[in-house]
Amino acid sequence: EEASKTPEAAPINIKGKEEIVGEEKSYGFQAETRQLLDIVTHSLYADREVFVRELVSNASDALEKARHVLLTSQGGADTEKLSISISVDAAEKMFVIVDNGLGMTKEEMMENLGTIARSGSKAFLNQLANQAGQGNDLKNSIIGKFGVGFYSAFMVSEKVQVFSRKRGEDAGHCWTSQGDGSYTIAPASGVEEGTKIVLYLRTDALDFAKEETVKTIVNKYSSFVAYPILCNGKRV
Ligand code: ADP
Ligand code: MG
Repeated sequence: EEASKTPEAAPINIKGKEEIVGEEKSYGFQAETRQLLDIVTHSLYADREVFVRELVSNASDALEKARHVLLTSQGGADTEKLSISISVDAAEKMFVIVDNGLGMTKEEMMENLGTIARSGSKAFLNQLANQAGQGNDLKNSIIGKFGVGFYSAFMVSEKVQVFSRKRGEDAGHCWTSQGDGSYTIAPASGVEEGTKIVLYLRTDALDFAKEETVKTIVNKYSSFVAYPILCNGKRV
């Protein structure tokens, strides 16, 4: 009885309980985003592992925003529960990262994940345009220098799904893309407040479905993160 209540003893259900419950609508990416995604998915990039750093950094930003909301409107209740949880499953070829941060509305997902607002990515594209006709080494050094944020997930994924529910809102949504010209958004049930990003890993990226690999990468790049990071239920 008691033992079954221990969270560490519970098997990780990597597939989760989220479900698409309504019409899936398709949208085209902004031209600049398409350009960036094309480079990210088709370049041979040596340091693909930085995608973990980018996703952890976004989760940490969302937790920081949630912490601010909790501190200003709820007297700081529940701030100790803010955390980042990564789950990996080699058999399922999945890498999943969950945060109970601020979350996003449908409109925010469209805006934040469909267009390039970040200055780093714009600088990246400009730099690339200046160096047109150059080979992969140069692209790689530029990707490394500027970082490509959320889109770096497509370096290792066939498909990316983002389930998100904004804190205080009832409706959750699912954003899905295969890194081509478009993405879909649909209403989803079972979405917790915050964001869950599911990477369906490419067959050449299955190393990132190994717990040991992920722990090593988290320790390498994300040791400064101010919130607890778990990997398959254990503190990294
Ligand atoms: P940056 O972090 O520099 O803004 P990214 O490409 O990494 O750029 O992320 C784009 C945007 O997507 C973020 O600014 C944020 O608005 C949104 N976003 C990404 N991941 C999350 C997340 N886990 N929770 C909430 N919002 C997120
Ligand atoms: Mg980021």
